[in-house]
Amino acid sequence: MISTLRFPIRSHIGWGSIEKLLPELQNLKLSNILIVTDQTLVKIGLVDQYLSPLKEEFTVNVYTDVEPEPTLRCAETLVAFTRQGEFDCVIGLGGGSALDLAKLAAVVSQNDGSVKDYLNLTGTKPLVHKGIPKILIPTTSGTGSEVTDIAVLSLEGTKDVVTHDFLLADLAIVDPQLTISVPKRITAATGIDALTHAVEAFLSINANEATDALALKAVKLISGSLENAVENGEDKEARTAMSFGSYLAGLAFFNAGVAGVHALAYPLGSQFKLPHGESNAVLLPYVMKYIAPSCLQKMNIVCDILTKEDKNPTPDDYLQIFYRLVENVGLPTTLKEYGISESYLSTLTEDAVKQKRLLGRSPMPLNQEDIFQIYHLALHGVKAGI
Ligand code: NAD
Repeated sequence: MISTLRFPIRSHIGWGSIEKLLPELQNLKLSNILIVTDQTLVKIGLVDQYLSPLKEEFTVNVYTDVEPEPTLRCAETLVAFTRQGEFDCVIGLGGGSALDLAKLAAVVSQNDGSVKDYLNLTGTKPLVHKGIPKILIPTTSGTGSEVTDIAVLSLEGTKDVVTHDFLLADLAIVDPQLTISVPKRITAATGIDALTHAVEAFLSINANEATDALALKAVKLISGSLENAVENGEDKEARTAMSFGSYLAGLAFFNAGVAGVHALAYPLGSQFKLPHGESNAVLLPYVMKYIAPSCLQKMNIVCDILTKEDKNPTPDDYLQIFYRLVENVGLPTTLKEYGISESYLSTLTEDAVKQKRLLGRSPMPLNQEDIFQIYHLALHGVKAGI
């Protein structure tokens, strides 16, 4: 069997790698740069601290109307703004929300029509033009957006994506320094998001030797550092391991895909406004328990890394292992805690079933009944230790 791998053209990763930005921009011989970021990052001084040196050499425009879990409307507004600006480069600086919007600004603004025309589920047009160069600089260790060809948008009731090679970064800069200021709960949620990417990529039916290597290293790095990063945000070692972990997890899932956890998480994000990482975290233990019988050998490899033990777990152990991981970083472990009741499970299920792109990679095929059962498990959860 032939495995095809895709990567962004170039990445700089590691403490201080943001210093590569200025020489990279000088090489590109640009003049008018659009920075896509959010208001929090401006307020805490992060944008000024790292990007103000650019103002001495380039015209710099800072766009801050980025909302977390961005809507289609938010993306359309940014694309319209970009079309008017005649920019020659887009820099995305922020979490996955800012990076995804930066991709759309760089690419869709140089194509006809609106963002809606290019959505995966309902779009009607192919992207024709590559767009202007884009540089993606994550400030969370989570989504891996800096290495994927996807932009995720929240729609009425569900999420959808624009996906194309053109959305790949021309340059990714992953500097753990920029994640020091991420608050505890966001560190926890984005970290579990990255772990979910690695685990789902490893278990995916599209996995191969290369994506397995990336995914397992990511599981090791993230499980070994997430609690420390949550407890002490200034822990340089933990933040660095999380940056590398989320980067590798991004490469793994970009090439092998994510599956059931993400398919069931999307409706939680759009219907109940759960942050992306938290919607993955609250489902991870239950999806893992449910699908474990279809991928026992690989599941055991992951659980050995997570528990640092070499024993064959039972299906209940799988639940406990992932449950504790989520609980230990202080995140909710049941849907009930988000105010979700039994009466919403059918609507959630109906939306999750539409995510065929994601469900198609699950090692266990998940039909409507399976999905309902998983939401039901996650509703009240299971207390660790039972
Ligand atoms: P986010 O970008 O929505 O940011 C969450 C919050 O954290 C925001 O309020 C932001 O201001 C704050 N924040 C970010 N960096 C900070 C820092 N250094 N210091 C202080 N605060 C900081 O969160 P996210 O989880 O990174 O991204 C979620 C989005 O990414 C969702 O829309 C999700 O669907 C999408 N996503 C995309 C991909 C992809 O491959 N493109 C993959 C997974 C998820």
